[in-house]
Amino acid sequence: MGRRLEELKNYIRQIILGITPINEKVKYRAIALMIAFVHLTFVALFFYFKVDIMFKYNIGAVIFYVLMAILLGMKELYTVLFSAALGEILLHSSLASIMLGFDWGFMLYTISLVPLIFYMCFTLSNTRMRLKIAIPLSFVVFIVYYVTLIVANHIEPIYIDPVYSYAPKISYYYNTVLAFIFCFAISILFSIEVKYMKVTLENKNLVLEQDAKVDPLTGLYNRRSFNEYLRKAVDAADRNEKNVSLIMLDIDDFKRVNDTYGHNQGDVVLKEVANVLRDNVRENDIVCRWGGEEMLILLEVSDDIASRIAERIRRDVEKLDMICEGVHIKVTLTLGVAGYVPGLSLREYIEVVDKRLYYGKEHGKNRVVNS
Ligand code: GH3
Ligand code: MG
Ligand code: MG
Repeated sequence: MGRRLEELKNYIRQIILGITPINEKVKYRAIALMIAFVHLTFVALFFYFKVDIMFKYNIGAVIFYVLMAILLGMKELYTVLFSAALGEILLHSSLASIMLGFDWGFMLYTISLVPLIFYMCFTLSNTRMRLKIAIPLSFVVFIVYYVTLIVANHIEPIYIDPVYSYAPKISYYYNTVLAFIFCFAISILFSIEVKYMKVTLENKNLVLEQDAKVDPLTGLYNRRSFNEYLRKAVDAADRNEKNVSLIMLDIDDFKRVNDTYGHNQGDVVLKEVANVLRDNVRENDIVCRWGGEEMLILLEVSDDIASRIAERIRRDVEKLDMICEGVHIKVTLTLGVAGYVPGLSLREYIEVVDKRLYYGKEHGKNRVVNS
């Protein structure tokens, strides 16, 4: 029991925070049962004041909403419930106001139908028609209110019982409280759902943003996002805040890997090499897939340390024995290393490290070049 209560509290907390959506079935069933309950109180009210027709009407309404709540459990009849409830509340309010007098306060409910209409139109429909439905419907509610006001003021109430002269007052007090609770509940539901949508959207944006930053094959940063990190690091280095070094590397004779084992195997090699790079750097170092089989690492260390890291990477990749679909594949890397010298433009800086890499390619490959 205690655990279930804890779970329920947790569920409510998550709903309020916008992490979990409100369960539609539970929500609409609860709404149906709440309306049924209100009608039940009217049954008691009209029984007490002996308004026979309204008494019977409300018994019918209670049965209708309870049935609706049961049916909602089986089928998604949300739009049906919404339309029926809208019509029924309008009918009940005007009927009661015309029969008993406007001063019983039954038309107050129709005012709270306006936020309900907007809420329902925005949560139930995914079309662009939402406003086109909600505005005319709200206008209909207004017209019904006004016509009832005029009619109720022009005809004598059908039901007048001098014994209960205080009845309208009691009823007005009661209906005011309920109409406010109604407005309040709808507004809270609306804000919770807007919050959920906002949180969901923010999370989706975060994922998209993250996806736009990385290369899908290797999971390394792509060229565009790398440039941003490099820009920031170089700016900090220009302010003498930190060291910046780059390691540029290229898989040796990768074309041969593709030609011998196929493009898919080549992709596996790329992923494995990317893993070695990740394993050899710290969390805040930036590893990027610069182009085909060329990768670039941004480190906030001196070129000495960067050279040592590059050498470690070179050895690790050399040792790597990749077995893809039964065949052993071995590759080597050539790496260029360059520490940042204040004053260089990004392009110039990358050119320096690129030249070192290609010097290595021309002088035997599988080596680190740092000068
Ligand atoms: P070098 O030692 O001079 O770097 O020789 P190399 O064969 O590695 O260099 P080259 O630039 O001639 O070939 C690079 C090859 O990388 C060509 C291309 O097919 C392959 N490649 C580029 N991107 C991918 C990829 O995403 N997947 C696979 N499997 N291969 C790729
Ligand atoms: Mg290559
Ligand atoms: Mg290349």
